[in-house]
Amino acid sequence: MVVRVGDTESTESRPGFETRAIHDGQAPDAVTGAVVTPISLATTFAQTAVGSPGTYEYARSGNPTRDALQACIASLEQGSHGLAFASGLAAEDAVLRLVTPGKGAMMGLDAYGGTYRLISAVWGPERSAGWSTADFSDLTALDAAWPDDVALVWLETPSNPMLRCTDIAALASLAHDHDALLVVDNTFATPYLQQPLRHGADIVVHSATKYLGGHSDVVGGLLVVDDDDLAQRLAYLQNAAGAVPGPFDCYLVLRGIKTLAVRMDRHCTNARAIVDLLVRHPAVERVLYPQLPDHPGHEAAAKQMSDFGGMVSFTMRDGAERAKQVAAATTLFTLAESLGAVESLIEHPGVMTHASVAGSPLEVPDNLLRLSVGIETTADLVADLDQALGVAVIR
Ligand SMILES: *Cc1c(COP(=O)(O)O)cnc(C)c1O
Repeated sequence: MVVRVGDTESTESRPGFETRAIHDGQAPDAVTGAVVTPISLATTFAQTAVGSPGTYEYARSGNPTRDALQACIASLEQGSHGLAFASGLAAEDAVLRLVTPGKGAMMGLDAYGGTYRLISAVWGPERSAGWSTADFSDLTALDAAWPDDVALVWLETPSNPMLRCTDIAALASLAHDHDALLVVDNTFATPYLQQPLRHGADIVVHSATKYLGGHSDVVGGLLVVDDDDLAQRLAYLQNAAGAVPGPFDCYLVLRGIKTLAVRMDRHCTNARAIVDLLVRHPAVERVLYPQLPDHPGHEAAAKQMSDFGGMVSFTMRDGAERAKQVAAATTLFTLAESLGAVESLIEHPGVMTHASVAGSPLEVPDNLLRLSVGIETTADLVADLDQALGVAVIR
């Protein structure tokens, strides 16, 4: 039985997670009483006198629908400030711009392919200190071999696509000992299952395109911090570089967040049923899911997550070709990139989402498949994967 370590219970000082997801930043409209946050389309706002703008001035700098989303995500992550961007990568780009040119960044052994590309091909080459990869599973060794000039540590936990989990509190304290900030990409866990700021992380990053939006119909990114100075620097970059989301996109993410808790519960339940099938299937070599006791980082996951999420990866005993056959044979699991929405997806990371890490320290096994387990009827998902795996059993 999973014990919730999150804050889904209300306390005297704060309503519970589900309540805040539905209400924080989203009070009924002051003018009309509308219970749904208005999509505010104005790009400019009337000023009462020269030099005295109201709360809003120009929509790149601030927009009421975006403010609602920013307030809501800050509340859910238990930070002081949220910042919304046009995509997850736009949010990451703003974080990387915090690093002064003489300093570098360090990332783990696997990550979203686009994050790797942004750091290694766009951001890194402009830096004298550049970037490095490190094994976060042995923090004593990492401490001893800590590279000079690292200003930023980039962590995904669970990571994409190997679902490695890392102790956020331990890595945060190590990063802080070395005067570096810890950034946690919390896209896979969502604030419902894990709140990295509570464990000492400095910045939380989200691709809102995934579980927060939750319906495969909006691209967006979010940052959350619990520090006024960091918030000010990031807000400056948000406005100065201008990768802001449109008001309709903000509305869609807010709408998705309202049902995040019930969706995540179902994602976790369905993922567990799929894991049960995979661990006993003869065609499967290895199942990667943070709840499994032998999974890399299982203890950290059990400590800092309230449940283990909807992402499941596995390797096929008979290699890459079998893996590709399985991915082509599912019918309910759609063959597609992305993740975190209501519908189930299957993909082959080596050729699809993680093609950009081929030949790098982040390269993924070619017999690996990744599932984003949706919220369809549990038995239908299990039956679909079972029949697809049937093509890979040697009879
Ligand atoms: C999708 C994803 C991103 C990038 O987000 P976009 O919204 O596609 O720009 C970053 N990190 C993780 C873990 C992701 O899954």
